Amino acid sequence: MRQPRVKIAVVSGQNRLLIGSDSAMQIAGVQNDSPVLSSGSIEIEIDKAEPAPLEEWLWCGKYFRKEEAANHCVKLASKGIESRLWEVGLNPVKGEWSHREYRLLVRLHDEAADKRELLHNIEEVFPEIVPVEIQLPTERPSFIINLKDSSGRETRIEKAFSLNADSPLQILEAPVGEGFHWQHFENLEFEDSIWVDMGIDGKLCCGVEIDIEDYLTSVNSSEMPADSPQEFLKAQVVAARSWLLANWGSHHPGEPYTICGGDHCQCYYGPSRIRESSKAAVNNTRGELLMYDGTVCDARYAKTCGGMTEPAANVWSFSEEPYLGHIRDLPGEKAVDFSDENKFREFQQRNEPVDSCCAPGYAELKGRLAELAELYRWDESLSNGELSAIILNKTGIDPGRILNLIPGIRGQSGRLIELYIIGENAELSLSPELEIRRVLSQTHLPSSAFWIERTDSDGFIFHGLGWGHGVGLCQMGAVSLAARGMGHKSILAHYFPNTSIQKIY
Ligand SMILES: [Zn+2]
Ligand SMILES: [Zn+2]
Repeated sequence: MRQPRVKIAVVSGQNRLLIGSDSAMQIAGVQNDSPVLSSGSIEIEIDKAEPAPLEEWLWCGKYFRKEEAANHCVKLASKGIESRLWEVGLNPVKGEWSHREYRLLVRLHDEAADKRELLHNIEEVFPEIVPVEIQLPTERPSFIINLKDSSGRETRIEKAFSLNADSPLQILEAPVGEGFHWQHFENLEFEDSIWVDMGIDGKLCCGVEIDIEDYLTSVNSSEMPADSPQEFLKAQVVAARSWLLANWGSHHPGEPYTICGGDHCQCYYGPSRIRESSKAAVNNTRGELLMYDGTVCDARYAKTCGGMTEPAANVWSFSEEPYLGHIRDLPGEKAVDFSDENKFREFQQRNEPVDSCCAPGYAELKGRLAELAELYRWDESLSNGELSAIILNKTGIDPGRILNLIPGIRGQSGRLIELYIIGENAELSLSPELEIRRVLSQTHLPSSAFWIERTDSDGFIFHGLGWGHGVGLCQMGAVSLAARGMGHKSILAHYFPNTSIQKIY
């Protein structure tokens, strides 16, 4: 079986791109006699661009069997409801790639009265389902791009193109880690070709198209320090490969690429990040996929669970995979339910290596890994004024002085799924976990697993545990298990119960 090639947006949402090379660059994919541009740097700017027109749809669940999904479309049609299937993911079936799942989408009309009636009709067909609104573009955006090379020559282009060169190409001043506390700009180097296109937001995007095994080699090094134990790196490669195939096409619908190179998908910063240890981890697990019931697993992972993993359904709609449940990070120990506020607080205040594999001290770690392990527990203090200003900045709503922050639903790992902000001027309800993390911090809180202390000076302290959504494999826990001698297959079996590994190419 052939491995798929993946198109990655390394940079997106830009008004201007800078691409450089030591040799002359050639524009490909535009016309036969494409000009050769000088070496140095090429400035790419939008001359004119409109965002793509978007249509509203309601996502009403997913099915692994196409016939089942298609039957629901027929049922909806008999009620006069227009629906379609959105094919997502790749799954190996009899030596070929087929789709992993079929998402049922119902067209949403604008009029409010229509919407109420539609929701009522959908409820009759699917009493269990809470539909999720999504937007899909109806067509590609139209645009004009200006290219200016270092000799000052300008070229106008009205469609997607590639830049090719005989020596490596660089995306200059690329934003890395946007919106997170490690945000910075870097020159990222790639091999011989970079594609440039217009995103549905009417902004420039660019990146590369490569074999997924090459992608995984770099992702692995970009996600975690390359001096991580080899068996951990192997476990992470299998998880990342499975995640990529399971989510193929779902994260950026309508965009000219499959995935982005940021935290939203999986961090990809190009071949300069590749280390020998990551290469070995990819080569030694080539084609290995995590499977459940004949389907590629949506093998999620996050930095540090903090003690327990969070069921996927608490974090993402319709993500009810049985292997993404609530488990204890420590193999062989029973999971404890931290949706109870008091139990959660008590555990958050413990920091003992015997409690969790991701706790500092469970395994002997050095350097960056030892630093990362410290995110097992964290505190964040904000004055009332600071918090109010951050909330205004993030939501556009001015809450005034914050009177109270009230935890709503807590998931089993202790992560808040709902939080209420009671301000003097406004009340807000935040959900799900990522929104809570985004709104309560200048950047992002490490996780939504925190309890709230009021200070004497009217401020707040968030006492937290873990880093990330906490679903699936706990990277720091897996690092420690590997450091203590566990093999990659056992690590994966621990974090993804009842799954198996299949080598498909
Ligand atoms: Zn993405
Ligand atoms: Zn953990």
